[in-house]
Amino acid sequence: MNARVKNTTIQIDGSQGEGGGQILRTALSLSMLTGIPFELINIRAGRKKPGLMRQHLVCVQASQSISNAKTEGAELHSQKLYFQPQHVQAGTYDFQIGSAGSTILVLQTLLPVLMMQKQTSQISIHGGTHNPMAPTADFISHCFLPAIQRLGIHVDFKCERAGFFPIGAGQINATVYPWQHKMKFSGMNKGKLISSSGYAAALNIPSNIAERELDVLNQKLNLTEQKRLNFQGISQGNTAFVLLNYEQHQQVFTRLGEMKKSAETVAHELAKDVQAYIASDAVADEYLTDQLLLPLALGQGGEFTATIISQHAQTQAQIIQKFLDCEIRFEATGKNFKVSVQV
Ligand code: AMP
Repeated sequence: MNARVKNTTIQIDGSQGEGGGQILRTALSLSMLTGIPFELINIRAGRKKPGLMRQHLVCVQASQSISNAKTEGAELHSQKLYFQPQHVQAGTYDFQIGSAGSTILVLQTLLPVLMMQKQTSQISIHGGTHNPMAPTADFISHCFLPAIQRLGIHVDFKCERAGFFPIGAGQINATVYPWQHKMKFSGMNKGKLISSSGYAAALNIPSNIAERELDVLNQKLNLTEQKRLNFQGISQGNTAFVLLNYEQHQQVFTRLGEMKKSAETVAHELAKDVQAYIASDAVADEYLTDQLLLPLALGQGGEFTATIISQHAQTQAQIIQKFLDCEIRFEATGKNFKVSVQV
């Protein structure tokens, strides 16, 4: 990992590209890793309620507490933030989001810097575990973590309690081990499909919701396995996900139940996502693509094929290249895209 600039504050305009919370989270991760301070203006200017929401503020506060950072503007609704890390400390941490904000996005902010430390860290985060527009705990367990394990990154992860909007009250625990052997990522082919498993959970709502989802998924996808999961927790909610096991890749697609949307519709939409992915040759889906860029840039780089390059992925690449001396390229290959990260 080579920092691009030294001893200069990096200026970032939060309204660039997709203009969401990802810019803030990636800037926090990279600032802690490189020691370079940053000033972020127009925070989440592209969103309906701009500025730091509770879950973003928790990302700032959590980053501040593991890196003893000096900050300015770390307040709710603030649209400007200055962040200067001092000294990063591995250890045991417990963070409360205090709302149903995503615990997973907080974990993804802290993970890059914790995995680069010489000691193991234990981290618990309380809040939402199954949020719209964020990876779910299931996506992390069965897709993101197995993918980065191929780079040599080891994390034990457990969703202790599920947390759905609006109550949240979920909990995730993670043990982050030092990244010892950095490996180059090679994800040009996923190989043959070995199994497809469908899972559904209905927490504190009628269990037939999960059963109806599994019926539709089985009809549409001819699953090799299907299972209703018993989540623990005090919030109410529903999720269904499909895990596709290929010879060389593991991909997850998730949907959350919504008020006024039937269980059948949720499962049909999920099945459509899965079918489109199975029909393509690409390895990473839209979401895994943006999430893999930073781990690759911190390690030995690598390449992989992707179904689509979202604006998220492009913005993520821009922020990474502001801090690190690396080259991230997206190329259309006809049917899919090729992503390459050179360090
Ligand atoms: P932002 O919208 O900027 O707060 O960033 C959202 C993050 O959540 C991105 O890294 C997305 O890849 C990720 N994400 C959004 N929806 C999903 C999903 N259905 N499955 C997995 N990851 C997701």
